[in-house]
Amino acid sequence: MEVETTIAGVRTRRRSERDAGLRAALVPTMGFLHDGHLSLVRRARELGDRVWVSVFVNPTQFGPGEDLERYPRDLDRDLGLLAGQGADAVFAPSVEEMYPRPPVVEISFSGLERLLCGASRPGHFGGVGLVVSKLLNIVQPEVAVFGQKDAQQALLIRRLVADLDMPITIDVAPTVREADGLAMSSRNAYLAPAERQAAPALYRALREAADAVAGGERDPSAVTGIIREVVGTEPLLDLEYAECVRQSDLAVPGRIGSPVLLAVAAHVGSTRLIDNLPVTPPAEKGGD
Ligand code: AMP
Repeated sequence: MEVETTIAGVRTRRRSERDAGLRAALVPTMGFLHDGHLSLVRRARELGDRVWVSVFVNPTQFGPGEDLERYPRDLDRDLGLLAGQGADAVFAPSVEEMYPRPPVVEISFSGLERLLCGASRPGHFGGVGLVVSKLLNIVQPEVAVFGQKDAQQALLIRRLVADLDMPITIDVAPTVREADGLAMSSRNAYLAPAERQAAPALYRALREAADAVAGGERDPSAVTGIIREVVGTEPLLDLEYAECVRQSDLAVPGRIGSPVLLAVAAHVGSTRLIDNLPVTPPAEKGGD
């Protein structure tokens, strides 16, 4: 497995891969890898001849007072895990390599970046859009793989690539969970034991809400009410938002009539956790 730390090094290697007719699949990450990330690497293996993984904790997507400094990092461990999955190449640049000067380009998404997680994280999705644009331009993969865990991010990246006519297929892989349902996240490493025990209530809440939709509930506020109620049973969880939005545009529907995303964010101590569940309402029977 090759490890590149410079943009020039990636370009040289990618040029020879392209000359050899090899298709690249890129998995962008911030490192401190877990099985969720590794599932994306395995997905990339199916989609490309060469699996590239980027490991970069991107400062421009962290707001003031967020966890940029304490975000967990362990590149040696990550490289071991990636080699074990048969990744071909890793791009692990420094902050100086990625941002030799403060960028003047800003990316926005017509307000989509202010919904859901964006409401409490101004600038976050602009930072994500910028770093993903840079990574896609540096590696120039045929395919890039993202996780459903970050559903809003995946949607915005799809729009970014479509609107900018990037010749890249975006693949979104399902959320990988712990046995008790907690979505895997590098941030789970922050959780104290009692917090870790409380955290799976987020997924339980999403499941109960999804069951209600499957059972015929069509009122988005009734569905988010279920999420609030279940999360409310865990005193350690401080709900930030519970939403039921259309998958197509993240808008709250008057009535659930098309696929929706049930999405939740909560603080557990000083850790912010997110989770979501895409739900397709069963077709309604015709009147009799
Ligand atoms: P991160 O390192 O948190 O920026 O995540 C890198 C990629 O891994 C993103 O596309 C995430 O959506 C994805 N990812 C993170 N956690 C999971 C998970 N539990 N299951 C599947 N994909 C995930």
